[in-house]
Amino acid sequence: MIAALETHGLTKAFGKAAPAVNGVSLNVPRRAIYGFLGANGAGKTTTLKLVLGLLRADAGSIRLFGQEAARERGRVGSLIETPSSYDHLTGRENLDITRILLGLERREIGRVLAIVDLAHAADQRVGSYSLGMRQRLGIARALLGDPRLLILDEPTNGLDPDGIRDMRVLLRRLPEAGDVTLIVSSHLLSEVEQVATHVGLLHRGRLLLESPLDALLGGIASVEVDTDDRVRAATILIDAGFAVTAASDKLLVAAADPAEIAALLMREGQRLSHLTRHRPSLEGIYHRHIALAA
Ligand code: ATP
Repeated sequence: MIAALETHGLTKAFGKAAPAVNGVSLNVPRRAIYGFLGANGAGKTTTLKLVLGLLRADAGSIRLFGQEAARERGRVGSLIETPSSYDHLTGRENLDITRILLGLERREIGRVLAIVDLAHAADQRVGSYSLGMRQRLGIARALLGDPRLLILDEPTNGLDPDGIRDMRVLLRRLPEAGDVTLIVSSHLLSEVEQVATHVGLLHRGRLLLESPLDALLGGIASVEVDTDDRVRAATILIDAGFAVTAASDKLLVAAADPAEIAALLMREGQRLSHLTRHRPSLEGIYHRHIALAA
């Protein structure tokens, strides 16, 4: 299937500094919610600006929907950095400015306001909006013209817990509404874990990892276990071929089934005092990859 976005060897340096984006090859499948992860300064915004044509790459190529990027940018909507709106105008009037510039019909405004759940506040001045409402207005603006790819740079930045929850609900809803692909940059791993179908991890300008989220979080569950004789238990498990690490007050057995571990230890006369399945988290995976890259 043709990817919504594909880059090859994308590179950009500012002045003499180490490249902010260094040989980045992304592949964002259509209809994905792609969580673009990385610490502050990792190069996320720079990458997204290159994709949007707001910056020129030093090297590399960008394809949107299988075509040369320049031909397809009209199908891309974006919210990059804090959205600027006119505070003295209403939400509807702000959207109207962009709508007229894009030559769209008036009913587009009602459509995008409904998607971001702002219809009730459309005729209030933006000056009275919360930050979360402003962010949603920015997304409404990005949705004008019904883009096939939506690029949102840190949409939860600065939001309170309610605003973050509203944003999560909105992000999940967007691809359901039609053939839309979402790229959402963030440094909030637990948020991304809740909405993304795919993740890409950028570290110091390089893409360390790109994967469907399922493949990353599934299949490698481990087991936490403890017994009345931890040293003996570790020996039994290692002899049986398991990879065991000792945490401060328990053993961690990689890629294992809890029932099998319990049966093995009990057969050897061990008394279990603790047994839980240890699910991998995006945060754990993130830190492991960063540590490996160091
Ligand atoms: P953040 O979450 O803080 O925005 P980021 O991952 O989006 O981080 P970028 O904003 O892409 O990171 O920045 C990557 C690096 O490039 C940083 O070291 C930054 O200082 C540098 N940089 C970005 N834009 C410019 C610019 N216009 N001129 C010079 N350096 C820049």
